[in-house]
Amino acid sequence: MGKRFYCDFCDRSFADRGLNRKNHFKGLQHQRMKKQHYDNFRDAASILAEDSSKTPCKRFFMGSCDYGDGCKFSHMTPEKRQFLQQQVTNDKEEKERRLMLEGSEPTLEEWLEKRNKKLRKDNPSENRPDIHYELPPFLMHVPNLPPSLLPPTAEELINKPHCEWG
Ligand SMILES: [Zn+2]
Ligand SMILES: [Zn+2]
Repeated sequence: MGKRFYCDFCDRSFADRGLNRKNHFKGLQHQRMKKQHYDNFRDAASILAEDSSKTPCKRFFMGSCDYGDGCKFSHMTPEKRQFLQQQVTNDKEEKERRLMLEGSEPTLEEWLEKRNKKLRKDNPSENRPDIHYELPPFLMHVPNLPPSLLPPTAEELINKPHCEWG
């Protein structure tokens, strides 16, 4: 028995002589298995993106297409598309969960800093203090409001002595 070549993609072996191997690699069946193999490692988003540029395969949707996954037209059924879209959602949630675990979420200080920067950018003329309270409109015209209802100014808050409870 001569040397045999085992193809991982196709899960089959054949006599490794002459042009056998080369011809096998060129074969449609092999190309298809190879693509299928790598597709398993591609994320659903890129499969969907690639598919969206293809026109539906007439042969496939009329019955059967010999090109299988190697076809240059789309074989995407509504079920498969739905499955992949679900996959995209899952991937996204998984990624977010991982980000949170890795602590790459902004800290509260970073978040506030970013927010204040945005507020200043949105209202550059108004030199708005970071702490800003306003009286609700329906209270604006009520005379002699009790002090507990008056909105504090930023200065008042900053200059307030820090009290401990209890
Ligand atoms: Zn093969
Ligand atoms: Zn096809």
